[in-house]
Amino acid sequence: MSGTQEKYLAFKEQLDPKIKLVAVSKTKPEEEILQLYHVGHRAFGENKVQELERKAGNLPGDIEWHMIGHLQSNKVKYIASFVNLIHAVDSLKLLRIINNEAAKHNRVIKCLLQVHIAKEETKFGFSEKELTVFLDELNKEELPNVSISGLMGMATFTDNFIQVKEEFRNLKLIFEELKNTYFNKYPLFADLSMGMSDDYQIAIEEGATIIRIGSLLFGERNYTN
Ligand SMILES: *Cc1c(COP(=O)(O)O)cnc(C)c1O
Repeated sequence: MSGTQEKYLAFKEQLDPKIKLVAVSKTKPEEEILQLYHVGHRAFGENKVQELERKAGNLPGDIEWHMIGHLQSNKVKYIASFVNLIHAVDSLKLLRIINNEAAKHNRVIKCLLQVHIAKEETKFGFSEKELTVFLDELNKEELPNVSISGLMGMATFTDNFIQVKEEFRNLKLIFEELKNTYFNKYPLFADLSMGMSDDYQIAIEEGATIIRIGSLLFGERNYTN
């Protein structure tokens, strides 16, 4: 048993089995993904299309691939045949393209809407106001090859746990609001993807159903190679 495998099994053991764990393998070699695969893990997250496409092509076909990063419209075509869940949809244009590309493969692709909850300018996602406009627009469209299955958000990168907690709590409120109004006829609108290595415990306390964990499982990332 390798160190990575031991770390994973210990993490899984303390995790509520109702919480979906996406192991974020970006920048990590395929062998490390296989190590978790061999102890039973299937859900992996990547944030770059090219890397996701390469890994999906080389690794076992029953891996469930999550696109967790910002997705450019012109790259959807490279992942539409196999991606399991797109976490960061942030425009109607992108959703339409995902729908069109999914249709070419006779698939319905599950998507989460990314909501901007952090105090930082740099994070992608809809503001609450933009979300309202988006949903109004969405009402007028037929997009049979996408299924909006919930929301995703990233908290501010800060040591201030109170702030992080408030941001996650806010996202959960938005989620409940949409679930009870706009999406009340969509039982598949059920997922809240929030929480990373440093804040997943807070995210779970605040109602996350999916957490995205990288460095805690695989160690720090090295972006130089
Ligand atoms: C990299 C990344 C993660 C994982 O981050 P860690 O802090 O290593 O757990 C989660 N979500 C997104 C969107 C990411 O880009």
